[in-house]
Amino acid sequence: MCVRRSTYCSLLLQTIFIGIYSSTLFAELLHGEKSASLTGVTSSSGVSPSTPLNKNTVKTTDECKKYLCKYGYLTCSCHQSTKRRKRQLPEEIFPIEYNPNSLSTTPDMAAADETGRQLTSPSLAHEEQIPCTDSDFVIALKKFQKNYQLPVSGLCDSNTTRQMSQKRCGQPDTVIDKLEGEDDDSLKQVRKKRSLSDMIEEAARLEEAKKRRKQLFQQYMDEIKEEKARPLGVPKNHKRTKRSTSKGLKKKRVSWRLMVNHEYLYISGEEQRSIMRMAFRYWSEVIPVCFYEHKDSNSEADIEIGFVEGVHLNCYRQFDGYGGEIAHKVDDDLHFDSSEQYTVELDSSTRLSLLLVAAHEIGHVLGLNHSTQVDSLMHAIYHELLDGTFQLSDHDRRQITSLYGPCNGSFNSVFDFVRTDLRTNRRMFNSYFFREDHVWKYQNNLERTTIGDPIRIDTNWDRSLKNIDTFLHYYKYNTSTSRFYDEHLFFKGSSYYLYNAHTHVVEQSGRISQKYPSYNSTFSIPSNLDAAFFDFRRRVSLIYFFKGRKVYSYNYQPGSSHQCCTSVQNIVDLFPPATPDDLHSENSYETGIDTAYYSNSKRNLYFIKGDDVWVDELFSSNSNSHGHRMKYVGKWYNLWFYICDADCPA
Ligand SMILES: [Zn+2]
Ligand SMILES: [Zn+2]
Repeated sequence: MCVRRSTYCSLLLQTIFIGIYSSTLFAELLHGEKSASLTGVTSSSGVSPSTPLNKNTVKTTDECKKYLCKYGYLTCSCHQSTKRRKRQLPEEIFPIEYNPNSLSTTPDMAAADETGRQLTSPSLAHEEQIPCTDSDFVIALKKFQKNYQLPVSGLCDSNTTRQMSQKRCGQPDTVIDKLEGEDDDSLKQVRKKRSLSDMIEEAARLEEAKKRRKQLFQQYMDEIKEEKARPLGVPKNHKRTKRSTSKGLKKKRVSWRLMVNHEYLYISGEEQRSIMRMAFRYWSEVIPVCFYEHKDSNSEADIEIGFVEGVHLNCYRQFDGYGGEIAHKVDDDLHFDSSEQYTVELDSSTRLSLLLVAAHEIGHVLGLNHSTQVDSLMHAIYHELLDGTFQLSDHDRRQITSLYGPCNGSFNSVFDFVRTDLRTNRRMFNSYFFREDHVWKYQNNLERTTIGDPIRIDTNWDRSLKNIDTFLHYYKYNTSTSRFYDEHLFFKGSSYYLYNAHTHVVEQSGRISQKYPSYNSTFSIPSNLDAAFFDFRRRVSLIYFFKGRKVYSYNYQPGSSHQCCTSVQNIVDLFPPATPDDLHSENSYETGIDTAYYSNSKRNLYFIKGDDVWVDELFSSNSNSHGHRMKYVGKWYNLWFYICDADCPA
């Protein structure tokens, strides 16, 4: 399968993105001491392309220098002798294929050196540049070494050439994204020791994330296959190509498309489109931007995506064949080097994960630069997916939120689903945010949602629970019947749904008026509830049903005929504000709430209405208090993070 070139043949073994984890493998590759094959890995189309020769390994000092020029470490003129100064003409600066007339802009919009590679400062292209001195190279080398946590020798040593030989993104490292508080020792923080239980928890989370991503991929595949025709896209002549100066997207709804005739040959069109949808979703799960596939053949998508090689599409960068640069973004478009070997598999150790590379490049379109944190998706070097999945790091999440702000919106219901683990007999809970037909499971200890959220409610819950009005958890020992009642209920319209917390099925449903009858009162519990909450405090022990301005207190005594409503009051009378300002007049809880949420992790009772949140200052699970006092605490997205819709509304 490999092109016979004696000593190099063994180099052809795999996609060589030797992460920091496999440096010995690299040494073996570099010296041609081992060989292997790509057996067992076939592309989804059934055709397995042979592994080409990687001409992009860095071995010599000269190649080191070229690398530093190419990826933005040198702003001096890289390819001139240090002894003479020479004015560069556009013909010399641009690759031979460059045609100034084909660009709508002046040549300084796109600068490249004589090999077609980008210069850090495009404006230098038609100025007389200062040639690089030896000390410029040493400074640049040291900067590179520091960025990639290598010993800072200032020499083009083996650590450095090894790092430079890895597959990477074409975006230069000119600007590195750092958040406040992140320092150069951040790598050490990432690798801090974790306890065994942390690791077990993390492993369980990874498993769930993997499962969810696979489900999502399958869902996208099914949806795309159901479409009658694939969206047509006209390959563009890239008139809008200038240079990589995009500072992120200005829109909240962004379209994308795979360019016709520029698809990857070894993966089916459906799979490529599914993978792209997933890659966009990594970001839309954490910011208020959504992405959809462009299906109008008469207009351009916001993001055009293509697999190309060498000089392509009037792009100011060119690809370098197998190895080296694997992808880049230009303006808001994504270009993938079709000489690379991609796979749709999420855990391939031999080929490039198309998902991972696409998600990284989308990060650039969104305005992110590279990060030096190895666990960041925005690390420039391609790392294989050691654990078979990847997720945005905390750095990525915070960085992208700093550009786009948090997501907002109202919820149907927010609740902790508390249940007894039948194996350990321990009480445990998960926090859920329900909105229309989708749900997020919140990880309180990580302060984020579960990877892959939101999911459709009917994925894990009974399908009747879409668009619920509210949830209620009632749990109490009833002395008259000597029985512990532990009821999980959902309400919708005039119906209630009694839910089995272990089997996840609706055990019983009926009318609210049957479940909570009004024996001797002038009012009954209304339909279309806003919220419900069981005040479990010893001195209260009442269910509150909320509807509009009113709250209905109900003394629920299952198995007894002595139950009924005790009162109906204005919400503000039962839950007075701490101060008049706490009513928060622009969106006051006085006129109704979306949900009343007791958070077991924060040990607080909250009212949520739209984006606004109040906390009950007098509510405590272990006090004798029975009153309420509501204090306005701000927006929910400052208490719970990354709760975003992910998909564009239909
Ligand atoms: Zn990049
Ligand atoms: Zn390009």
